[in-house]
Amino acid sequence: MGLSGTRALVTGGSRGIGAAVARRLAEDGLKVIVNYRRDAEGAASVVEAIERAGGQAEAVAFDVTDREATAEAIARLLEAPEPISVLVNNAGIAEDNAFPAMTWEQWERVTRASLDGFFNVTHPLVMPMVRRKFGRIITMSSISGLRGNRGQVNYAAAKAGVVGATKSLAIELAKRKITVNAVAPGLIETEMVQNVPDFVVKDMIPMRRMGRPEEVADLVSFLASERASYITGQVICIDGGLS
Ligand code: NAD
Repeated sequence: MGLSGTRALVTGGSRGIGAAVARRLAEDGLKVIVNYRRDAEGAASVVEAIERAGGQAEAVAFDVTDREATAEAIARLLEAPEPISVLVNNAGIAEDNAFPAMTWEQWERVTRASLDGFFNVTHPLVMPMVRRKFGRIITMSSISGLRGNRGQVNYAAAKAGVVGATKSLAIELAKRKITVNAVAPGLIETEMVQNVPDFVVKDMIPMRRMGRPEEVADLVSFLASERASYITGQVICIDGGLS
């Protein structure tokens, strides 16, 4: 009844951490649904890399902030016989600005991607997991959501929001053998943090380097596995000692 013969949905899987997670879960034997918003080429290359390595994957487009489009896409995905047993809510954006200069639009875009995205994608997948009495829901938070960060009032609010959602949903679903956890990366080498200067990395991070997307993917892989069956409602930091 566990993971074997099931699928994983990774939102924002066309690049960065999401792409690494998609590749890793495929290595673990899951058939991976690589969600993307606009980057069809990136998603196709992730699918191709997975297939070349002997895994199974498909790319599916929807914008996690669009509730109707997301619900329709997930309803179609649920028509296939293999259950979706793993959800990785990875899609997210950052639009940093000092708070006095932050616009409502910046607040809204960032909170919609991470926080509304959590609702839009997780909600239609929960009841099928409940009926099957198995599931893994893993959401990308950030250390910014735990300790705050200059210029990230919007992002930190969204990432703290998913922590509250994770902890509450974990309690609701625990007796159904569905675990709900969050991963809080520090600085990970992706396009999202390409403008962080080298001295910040050297001064701030005890390990004196950024993390690699593959290192985050290894943690997600463990949380998604049946070995992590007694871990729920947790936020696990992966930050080279930063927090
Ligand atoms: P990234 O920008 O490389 O990837 C984010 C992905 O999410 C992109 O593929 C993007 O297209 C997708 N996405 C954004 N909005 C979407 C939407 N509305 N619908 C569907 N897809 C959408 O960034 P990343 O560094 O790989 O980040 C992945 C996750 O990890 C994000 O949630 C991010 O907030 C979080 N995170 C990253 C870092 C870091 O240092 N890179 C640190 C902490 C948390």
